[in-house]
Amino acid sequence: MGINGPGGGTGMAATPDAARIPAPGQRPSAAAAAAAAAPASAPAARGRLWLWSVRHARGLERLYRILAALFLRLHPLWQALGYARAERPVRFVERQVKSLLFDCRMCGQCVLSATGMSCPMNCPKQLRNGPCGGVRADGHCEVAPEMPCAWVKAWEGARRMAQGDAILAVQKPVDRRLAGRSSWLDVTAREAAARRRDAA
Ligand code: SF4
Repeated sequence: MGINGPGGGTGMAATPDAARIPAPGQRPSAAAAAAAAAPASAPAARGRLWLWSVRHARGLERLYRILAALFLRLHPLWQALGYARAERPVRFVERQVKSLLFDCRMCGQCVLSATGMSCPMNCPKQLRNGPCGGVRADGHCEVAPEMPCAWVKAWEGARRMAQGDAILAVQKPVDRRLAGRSSWLDVTAREAAARRRDAA
């Protein structure tokens, strides 16, 4: 998690998602929207741990699968607590862990498991479907030359992952209404709803 849901999760979870996504016309909190919309940090200000995460994408992928399964098993607990009430503490933990490992920007729709553990929201152009045409010959960013291109690293990370071909899937445009939300809970709610539908 941190990371996408198992298989990316399909469909919308009617009840929990409805409670979590702001109503049409309603804005995400100013802080959340600003955090997700902010251009990526200057390279000097970026942590270097994300490069370690890309190098260890295979191990992190395994860890993610385990955590995703655990979160799904805990679905009855999230439901009993209320997804909305669980949001705050889970989001706090998610933010700490993912900020440290991935320079996460809490976009609320994590795609790390499809991008080699390289967060695309750190691309200064925030491209979600591959690099722009400006990648330098040394694999660095045209906007921030000191920074390796997030998408070059995404490809390297994806080649290390068991399900690295997920990088070939076309990602939807970023939904700014989800900025600042917990992807972990969102993915869990969607996956639980999909399983309910499949079982019906
Ligand atoms: S900003 Fe989005 S894609 Fe990047 S690590 Fe955070 S939740 Fe995942």
